[in-house]
Amino acid sequence: PYRLGPKISDWDSQREAWNGLNPGRNVTVSGKAKTLLVSGSQPGPCANPMGDFYHLKFLKNRIDYARLHGLEFFYNMATFEKEMSSFWAKLPLLRKVMLNHPDVEWVWWMDSDAIFTDMTFEMPMEKYGKSNLIVHGFHNLLYEQHRWIGLNTGSFLIRNCQWSLDLLDALAPFGPEGSARVEAGKLFTEKLVDRPAFEADDQSALVYLILYGDPKWKEYTHLEWEFFLHGYWKYVVYNYEELMAKNHPGYGDERWPFVTHFVGCKPCKVGESEDGENDECFIQMERAFNFADNQVLEKYGYTHSALSSFMTHKIRRDTSDPLGLQHLSARRSKLAAAK
Ligand code: UDP
Ligand code: MN
Repeated sequence: PYRLGPKISDWDSQREAWNGLNPGRNVTVSGKAKTLLVSGSQPGPCANPMGDFYHLKFLKNRIDYARLHGLEFFYNMATFEKEMSSFWAKLPLLRKVMLNHPDVEWVWWMDSDAIFTDMTFEMPMEKYGKSNLIVHGFHNLLYEQHRWIGLNTGSFLIRNCQWSLDLLDALAPFGPEGSARVEAGKLFTEKLVDRPAFEADDQSALVYLILYGDPKWKEYTHLEWEFFLHGYWKYVVYNYEELMAKNHPGYGDERWPFVTHFVGCKPCKVGESEDGENDECFIQMERAFNFADNQVLEKYGYTHSALSSFMTHKIRRDTSDPLGLQHLSARRSKLAAAK
């Protein structure tokens, strides 16, 4: 079967040895295990220029989130293995990233069609213990109902360790373009509930391995459902205005979704998608971007005039005392005089 590369079976000790030899490459940032945010999109231009426009906006959103939270960020537009095209491109990429960043503990994959919509929320890493894969999903949908949407692979964290290399190796044989992918697609459609007939995808492969593969896949996977590590766009985008009126960023859940993921949208496709949904995708991508961008622009004193608008306006008067220092020293002298 297809392989991603030479078998590595002692990665944990290789990593440890390398980190021992390179103490300058800190494995922690401000006391937290180092996390590398990774995303990417296709090497060529989108057939629909609007698709590239939204890839750029979503990329800007990731740059903002990474900057605000001290994450390193890698955006890839190269095809690493030509058999591993489309949604399978993340597999060889994740392997390469792990092997070439031994100082990084967590790799955080985000699809190009997913966007951070809570710019304040941070992953509660302390709760994951020995888990090696953090993925959004629901216990009943996955373990009881065996549904192919029991979890979602649009935004997940995977630990840089042997278990993860083994998982990538176990997923890889389902991915090669052509008959392997077509045959695996048939298997997944047969085994997983409500899966339409189409070629194998990485999400179905993961669900399949967790349900039918070695028990260690389930054992070290943490299904996150307490906040939207992935939020299906149709469930969240229509609530943004109500959330802005009632809540504030920082929750990551229904009150302020952490990630909005445009599953099923085909931004590169020209014309209507089969279900006539692409126009709605673009309208909602713009709204999601502006919802997130307001949280970034706030610091600079601007906001979008409406979620549907790329136009912005000022929300604060400019001042000659931007840092509030004059105001502070005036208060101090008042206090001193009062003593
Ligand atoms: N992708 C990539 N390189 C490619 C094609 C796709 O890195 O050449 C990534 C891209 O980030 C994309 C992801 O694969 O978002 C998964 O595909 P998609 O989002 O279309 O799947 P969906 O979430 O709609 O099931
Ligand atoms: Mn996606």
